[in-house]
Amino acid sequence: MNKIKGYLDHLDEMQKQLPVEPKYKAQDVRGLDSPLNVVYELFTAGDAKAGVQTSAFVLPNDEQVREKKGTKKVFLKNMMEAKFAKSLVPISQRVLEPADAQKVSFDAYFTEVILHEICHVLGLNYITLPDGTKTTVGKALKDLNTPIEEGKADVVGIASVPLLVGKGIIPKGRENEIYTTYLAGMFRVMRFGATEAHGLGVLIQYNYLREKGAFVFDPASRKFRVDLTKIKAAVQDLARQFLVLEGDGNYDAVKAFKDKYGALDDITKAVIETLKDIPVDIAPIFRTSY
Ligand SMILES: [Zn+2]
Repeated sequence: MNKIKGYLDHLDEMQKQLPVEPKYKAQDVRGLDSPLNVVYELFTAGDAKAGVQTSAFVLPNDEQVREKKGTKKVFLKNMMEAKFAKSLVPISQRVLEPADAQKVSFDAYFTEVILHEICHVLGLNYITLPDGTKTTVGKALKDLNTPIEEGKADVVGIASVPLLVGKGIIPKGRENEIYTTYLAGMFRVMRFGATEAHGLGVLIQYNYLREKGAFVFDPASRKFRVDLTKIKAAVQDLARQFLVLEGDGNYDAVKAFKDKYGALDDITKAVIETLKDIPVDIAPIFRTSY
């Protein structure tokens, strides 16, 4: 929990340091729409096993209460740990070169999830179009808003890592774990396809960073690795792309960006095929007495 507070304390500075011209960050960061809570889920029953095992939810469900009092986002840390162990670890062992797979850590994964939630508030929400119309990013980007906003939250979070390392919030020795865990996590999401908004947001990041040489495929081993000499600058470039697309609110430019980077290539498709036997979800069994 202290860690989350550490991030929140630096929210203004994260906004100021975004790798983009001042006009794309000329907005005060308002508090997060939903405060973040981390809990351990000890027991659930009923239909909990019927659907997807959730690792985070937003409460309350009642629309009226939401409107009046707001919401809070709850992370189920033990569910996240279980998903990490059963899904992300085996995926990383299969898609990453051994030296990179070793660096994939729960701590890095958890950091990325929290940073993603926090970074939704960075950049701009309210924009003015070239013809003077005042609108929101959501309205301007229409159906493409969700994948772009989800992608922005991912990559702006990763782009903030050097700042947070500088502040002592993220230990310096663990910075590289974040980049390899980021890549492994992309395969976890891309398994579900690019039709779903978050999948598309991830695919765009993945293809862009590969084009920049930050993610490297070795045809001999058929595995990927992160090029640590390139990843930091590439992530800053990509964060800038997303922030400018949102800030300009130019739907056609967003569509062109999506068309260029939003497709799955054959190599990646083949690698994803090899993940078929890895569980896509967990079914927790709770012990009711200790
Ligand atoms: Zn999100």
